[in-house]
Amino acid sequence: MRINTSLEVSEKTKKDQGLVTIIMNNNILMIYPESPTTYWSMKHALPFAGKKAQLPPLGLITIAAMLPAHYNVKLVDINVSQLTDSDINNAGLILISAMIVQKESFDDVVKRCKKAGKTIVAGGPYPTTSYKSIEGVDHFVLNEGEITLPRFLRDFENGSAERIYTDESKPDITGTPVPRFDLLDIDKYYSMVLQFSRGCPFNCEFCDIIEMFGRTPRTKTPEQFIRELDTVYQTGFNGALFIVDDNFIGNKAAAKTLLPHIAEWQSAHGYPYRLFTEASVDLAEDDKLLEMMVRSGFDMVFIGIETPVEQTLIYMQKPQNTRIKLIDSVRRIQNAGLEVTAGFILGFDNDPEDIFDLQINFIKESGIPMAMVSLLMALPKTQLYRRLIREDRLLAESSGNNTHNFYLNYIPAMDKETLVKGYKRVICAIYNPEAFFNRCLKMLRHTPLRLMARREIGFPELRALFLSIIKQSFSRYGYYYLKYLLFALIKSPRFFPESVRMAIIGRHFILMTRSMLKNDRIREKEKKRVMLKEKELAGIMSATNKASASSPAMTPMSIRSSSLRLITVHSHDIQ
Ligand code: SF4
Repeated sequence: MRINTSLEVSEKTKKDQGLVTIIMNNNILMIYPESPTTYWSMKHALPFAGKKAQLPPLGLITIAAMLPAHYNVKLVDINVSQLTDSDINNAGLILISAMIVQKESFDDVVKRCKKAGKTIVAGGPYPTTSYKSIEGVDHFVLNEGEITLPRFLRDFENGSAERIYTDESKPDITGTPVPRFDLLDIDKYYSMVLQFSRGCPFNCEFCDIIEMFGRTPRTKTPEQFIRELDTVYQTGFNGALFIVDDNFIGNKAAAKTLLPHIAEWQSAHGYPYRLFTEASVDLAEDDKLLEMMVRSGFDMVFIGIETPVEQTLIYMQKPQNTRIKLIDSVRRIQNAGLEVTAGFILGFDNDPEDIFDLQINFIKESGIPMAMVSLLMALPKTQLYRRLIREDRLLAESSGNNTHNFYLNYIPAMDKETLVKGYKRVICAIYNPEAFFNRCLKMLRHTPLRLMARREIGFPELRALFLSIIKQSFSRYGYYYLKYLLFALIKSPRFFPESVRMAIIGRHFILMTRSMLKNDRIREKEKKRVMLKEKELAGIMSATNKASASSPAMTPMSIRSSSLRLITVHSHDIQ
């Protein structure tokens, strides 16, 4: 049976395993699932700025810009607003994009939309790496949307859409349209986002970026990037702007071509944006590039340091981190005027026994306030993942949450208990309030006044300062907080709003660490209690069985189920 599928009449019929689904309208609902509370989420810091989420879903608003004009697009980011039944019911088609860390919310959204009888299309990093294990999705539009989305749309509009659209080729992104910032509830985000490049030339074993986006960085043109900057500016947003590239300097020549355009634009508009991005550590080797970034308004950069141990860096295929002593690299970047935030990983096969102290000491000495320490995680589509499968050491898929999580999805070379215990010791040491504020002070001593950050102190800054003083001065760590603020005020009054921002971020890390360690202690206590109960039950049953040979014996299996019920009840109580 061939049914009229033209979009002009707003009706499409799809035959799928004997089922007929009718799309009654051209309303596309884009959904961005909820991200869990992690170190990255800044959940404890965002209310100070009156914001609901750190970043908007750039992938979805870029895809939205690629859709033909005859679709009406609505975006619901569950991190900043509710997904209502009427949103779902009004939709003709549902598009979901997610990262691995959002998979729990992703599954809930899929179930809800499926129940409402909707056709679901999924894309983004989580579906791209894990689509084989995802249920309930009608169509997967994977890899980069510039290639796969038009193919899906063509087939969908012809009534012949397939289940999976995948293509490993890497599109030229100079044709990528300006993202639909108009779909965002802009005031709910702390930072806006733009992308200049995709891909990274390096070859770190644990990295999925190079497999998803390739090792030859592709960039937008400066004119294209400035058009995007203009579009963000037209929304009225000012403040933080994250350049989401996985390695902004993956193509240094292209970055150097772009930066004068950004500097000129910022200067012409009164420097409305504090820029931050991610870059490889070889940024420290290029004084000119550093100077150009600062001149353009960058004031922070995330670096993947991973470990201070050279042989481990070689082992993980990250030799670029060994060319200059890492502590010197951090100092050079700070001295140029950029705050360094960094990632550190524990759990590599050749981590030495004293790796925990080495990491703690490095983080302390370097003056990196925001140090994201995680346990190694084997992500799908990485060289590490494939090696662990070959070595029969992969235990499960990754949760995507690699910080403040004691979960390992592989068998580590180091004893697991030692590794997890050591990890807890590291986060405990670096996120105790005194250590955090001391690192902030160290960073301030090494980072000269950022000439480009010319933001006025307006209501949001005053509000954040007021809330911060009220909440943090009288907290258990009030002394260290006030000492830090006083120093920051004396050193640079103009930099003061940024100093307050760092103190507020510190609160997030301090509270996250405390609650995580507390929950862990409760879990451990509960586990011990249940084990004790199991033992007691086993003892009672064995005595009863001996005393009455005629009565039915409680089997080890039934003892185990009683205990499991206990665990279930008490885990629920904890939550
Ligand atoms: S430098 Fe970063 S983005 Fe590049 S391969 Fe290594 S981990 Fe991946």
